[in-house]
Amino acid sequence: MLYISTRGHADRKHFCDILLEGLAPDGGLYLPEQYPKITGAALTKLRKAYHEQGYAELAFQILSLYIDDIPAADLKAICAKTYTAEVFGTGEIVPLRHLEDGLWLEALSNGPTLAFKDMAMQLLGNLFEYELKRRGEELNILGATSGDTGSAAEYAMRGKEGVRVFMTSPHGRMSAFQQAQMFSLQDENIHNIAIEGVFDDCQDIVKAVSNDLDFKRKYKIGTVNSINWARLLAQVVYYFAGYIQATETNDQKVSFTVPSGNFGNVCAGHVARQMGLPIAKLVVATNENDVLDEFFRTGSYRVRAAADTHETSSPSMDISKASNFERFIFDLLGRNGQRTKALFSAALQTYGRFDLSADPLFADAAGKYGFESGKSTHADRLATIRDTHQRHGVTIDTHTADGVKVAREHRGDASVPMIVLETALPIKFAETIEEALGHAPERPEKFAGIEDLPKRVQVMPADVDQVKAYIQRVCDDA
Ligand SMILES: *Cc1c(COP(=O)(O)O)cnc(C)c1O
Repeated sequence: MLYISTRGHADRKHFCDILLEGLAPDGGLYLPEQYPKITGAALTKLRKAYHEQGYAELAFQILSLYIDDIPAADLKAICAKTYTAEVFGTGEIVPLRHLEDGLWLEALSNGPTLAFKDMAMQLLGNLFEYELKRRGEELNILGATSGDTGSAAEYAMRGKEGVRVFMTSPHGRMSAFQQAQMFSLQDENIHNIAIEGVFDDCQDIVKAVSNDLDFKRKYKIGTVNSINWARLLAQVVYYFAGYIQATETNDQKVSFTVPSGNFGNVCAGHVARQMGLPIAKLVVATNENDVLDEFFRTGSYRVRAAADTHETSSPSMDISKASNFERFIFDLLGRNGQRTKALFSAALQTYGRFDLSADPLFADAAGKYGFESGKSTHADRLATIRDTHQRHGVTIDTHTADGVKVAREHRGDASVPMIVLETALPIKFAETIEEALGHAPERPEKFAGIEDLPKRVQVMPADVDQVKAYIQRVCDDA
């Protein structure tokens, strides 16, 4: 299996070459040359693998279709080490729970940081450690986070050989729980940097450091952002696991509703559907930051300015542009790299938008690819959390609430189960849960009192040179 860029670059690369890379050389995103097909018998084999051998085996079999440069026994061991009941809380790893008529919740948030990003990041940590060791190399991951990504990355990389994490976050702006989750890590290879500024300042610092090519090379700076293909691939597995749990035979279909921001999660659903998994609809649920809902309704993709990006109570979906969206557009345009490049590098750079409403291909987004969309607001979120708690005794987090609200509007045919992906546990966003229910959400036992643990964090002004000097000092001292 070889990987190509969405912008038509001539290079073809193997999995491990793109594992540690970000963008393709032409600024595009990597995708496999083609999607391997899972036919009836192959799907039955996966069904059996999940039921009899578990999620790790399912992951191994799906990943094997995309990774040809890690020996099978090693890949199997990496999957077995990653997807354990100990790390993810249950033997099913992603248990499916019935909520109401035709509606199910697939739990993706029982990993170490209680958000779905653990599903991919835990695998990435083990893949990075394996590949760096094989190459005899080191990597310094530099990132910016407003919460979920940074903590998932730190919990995946903590204690790993050959990897350090430098994670910037806006000082004092994350929830107390999120701060405690990250800053209480005492591992030597984890470095929290609280920047006196907002999230955009953190992101600007990461960009500035990455654009200093000499520094980047000398200090082996890398990232783990959501455009990483390995993360997306890891997410494909739980669409299969959700389907297998919701059905008994392969002639049944299911739909998924996915709380979306950067289009990473639902893009994995698109890949699963392209592989032949019997998915009827992929419903994209956004919050007030509705770039994606607008596109699927109108065909117009309009990146928002910083000032038009709302701070919401489902903050992990507060995006101005959807960084993984280019992958879907590449497929929608019949894998035309030149056209994709014209839209994402020329039109977006110049006008901040492109418009496919007049293009007959836009009809394929729904017709051929099954995409629908909807939007949820703070008031919807509160109402959905309250209603789901009152009627079903289930407390859902704010992002999942956006999913449930939109899923109810798109349920359709009752014979097709609608699976909402639960992307976080409510304790991470306790303030809004209290606002909705009048009481705090339940806290998993292992997080009792984490706010009182000693914190390991450097507070710094929003100054690129000081961040660089810090990285330099840590690396030179090692
Ligand atoms: C990251 C995140 C999302 C959005 O996922 P994308 O892949 O960016 O679309 C939704 N919910 C939670 C809790 C998240 O952490």
